[in-house]
Amino acid sequence: MRKINIAIDGFSGCGKSSTAKEVARRLGYKFIDSGAMYRAVTLHMLRENIDLSSQALISEALATCQIDFQHNPETGKSETILNGENVEQEIRKMYVSEKVSIVAAVKAVRVAMVAQQQEMGKARGVVMDGRDIASVVFPDAELKVFMKASDKSRAMRRKLELEEKGESPSLEEIMENFQDRDLQDSTRAESPLIQVPEAVVIDTSDLAFEDQVLRVLTLAKEKIEA
Ligand code: C5P
Repeated sequence: MRKINIAIDGFSGCGKSSTAKEVARRLGYKFIDSGAMYRAVTLHMLRENIDLSSQALISEALATCQIDFQHNPETGKSETILNGENVEQEIRKMYVSEKVSIVAAVKAVRVAMVAQQQEMGKARGVVMDGRDIASVVFPDAELKVFMKASDKSRAMRRKLELEEKGESPSLEEIMENFQDRDLQDSTRAESPLIQVPEAVVIDTSDLAFEDQVLRVLTLAKEKIEA
């Protein structure tokens, strides 16, 4: 059966990654969390004490930043590796979330990440979620989905995720971080978050997880069989 690429874009915390991961699992496709790559670059910059107000310094520090994904057979999940170290847990923490949109706005960072993402999608059979997947990374993706959700449902979802990881930010802190990032991500000069006209919009506010997955899977099967 022919393989397609599936692009899932949208604002922070709409359930893009969890949906993409499960859709990929059921189709036997590769899941790529592009946000994890920007988070890992940000962690690298923070560890190297790079002045984030300098695009030149960020661009220079990219030379020592290698990002990979590694399959964990115990969890069955793909995990993010920064310069050989598993940083899957670390990159989800709030101190990284607070800076990631600054680093992700830098042109050299985007050029490097997009090149790597396009390489991973060359053989098709990829579900990738992010902000610029339908517009920049895979403009030829057979299926493009734009996810959105109410502020409250997004914040509640993220709070539960962070609590599972031992962090306990308030709903207000989470909301504030989403609003900051959404604004920065959709107003930046380089590949801003946009909803491409051909994208199918899915509002996940009142959808159960299984329904989210089924909606994307149904659309994907239509495209695969077309
Ligand atoms: O998807 P996630 O919320 O983990 O993404 C973290 C941040 O990475 C986003 O707020 C955005 O600044 C950046 N990002 C991006 N382009 C992508 C994916 C994520 O700029 N394709």
